[in-house]
Order: sequence, then structure tokens, then C-alpha cells
Amino acid sequence: MASLPPIPPKDPEVAGEALRGQGESLVDCRACALCQGRTQVVFGAGSPVADLMFVGEGPGFNEDKQGEPFVGQAGKLLNELLEGIGLSRSQVYIGNVVKCRPPGNRDPLPEEIAACTPHLMQQIRVIRPAVICTLGRFATRVIAQTEAPISAVRGKAKEVEVAGIPVIVFPVFHPAAALYTAANRGVLEQDFQKLRVLLARGRGALAAGQGAEGDPSDPTEVATPEAEVDVPGGGVTGAGKSAVAGAGVRPTAGEEQLKLW
Ligand code: URA
Repeated sequence: MASLPPIPPKDPEVAGEALRGQGESLVDCRACALCQGRTQVVFGAGSPVADLMFVGEGPGFNEDKQGEPFVGQAGKLLNELLEGIGLSRSQVYIGNVVKCRPPGNRDPLPEEIAACTPHLMQQIRVIRPAVICTLGRFATRVIAQTEAPISAVRGKAKEVEVAGIPVIVFPVFHPAAALYTAANRGVLEQDFQKLRVLLARGRGALAAGQGAEGDPSDPTEVATPEAEVDVPGGGVTGAGKSAVAGAGVRPTAGEEQLKLW
């Protein structure tokens, strides 16, 4: 049987140009009512070839003014969480389910999500991330096509196909949830440590045959790493040209495997 042609390597210039073109095509988007109240479309930001993509809900006040996702208080926390696993914003890509600010920061409506989802899918097709970390329930619903509550799936991984691309979806609480409830910050920090394991070990970090039955609030599902060891080429980021590789994301000894859902 003839083998399939190899998948071409990700090219930052080609992908960057494709995202720029897509962003420009949306500057005057009128596909839903959110266009009426926005200052500008907040398309997304970061590496066009990122192996790790974050998807949030939608721009807030600051994002709408500045044109960049996660630049307000929730963004400050996201930056800190990234720093905590040795990454910076320029090494990942950050987008949202809806690209225009819902008035008064209300939840995006189903018709607004439906109008904007094809644009998010097109971004994913261009970026081809290995891991999508969904921030909160709206992103998790859209990316993983699930109605499961975020509290049941956060901190667990699932292999899915998104926009025709095989990815590992890893939901976490929305950072804004930690601004209102301090305990959620600790949960987010724990889940980011699991994300670090996932980035370092790729599919090898996924536990076979585990479901979502575990206690979703148990922050000890993955052991805290003690000693660092090298695992050659084992991770999602092991391809050499990765936007994340070399960022100090290293597998560690004694880690348990990530729960699936
Ligand atoms: N919250 C989001 O979901 N997205 C942003 O860009 C900012 C805050």
C-alpha cells in the first residue's frame, strides 16, 4: 500500500502570512451583533507555529481597547502561569472563541459563537498546535465538543480532531475564575504543571484506559516532580522546530500519567 506523503514542517513565514491575511479579512467583520459594540476585532496573538495554543472566551474591556487577547488582569495571571512552566507568550498562540467583546463582558451567545467558530477553526488549521489548552467552559465546549462541566474535565487530557487536525485538548479553569475565587489559583497552578508534563512527554504522558472518574478537584492527580531527567524526543515539542522546545520544559522523574476524560 502506498504510504501517505509526509506532513510538511510548520513554516513560521507561511503560517504568519496566512494569519495576517485572515486577520485583515476580519477587520470589518459584521457576521454577528458583537460588531456593534466593539472597538476592534481581537484576532489573536503569538507564534504562528506554536505547538501550544490557548483558547479563551472573548475579549474584555482591555483587550477590546488594545486589540490583543489576555492583556487585563486575567492576562496578567495567564502570563504568570506561563512563566511558572518556563514559557512566554511569544512561544504560544492565544486566541478566543469570539473575537469581539461581548457588551459588559457578558457570556457570548450561541449565535455569536456559531458565527465566530469557523474563524477559530481556520486559525487552528494554520497553526497546527499539538496541544490546545482551553481556558474555561466556552472554549472547552467549542474545541472538545462536550457539554461536560469544566470542573469534571479540567486538568485532564483528551485526544480529539479539531478542524481536521489531531490535537490533545487540555481544559483548565478560566484565569478570571482565580481572580474571584483565590482557591482556583492553586488549581490552575497544579493544572499548568500537568500541562508542562504533557508538553514534555506528548502522548506518552497520557494514561491508557483512564476515564474521567477520578475526583476532579483532586490536585494530586499528577505527582509533583522531584528530579529532572531527559527523555529524548518523547514530547509534543520534540520535533526540533517547535516554538516551545528548548524553553526549559523538561520531563521529570517519578511523574504519574495524566488522566484522560
Ligand atoms: N478573557 C478571555 O476569555 N479572553 C481574553 O482575551 C481576555 C479575557
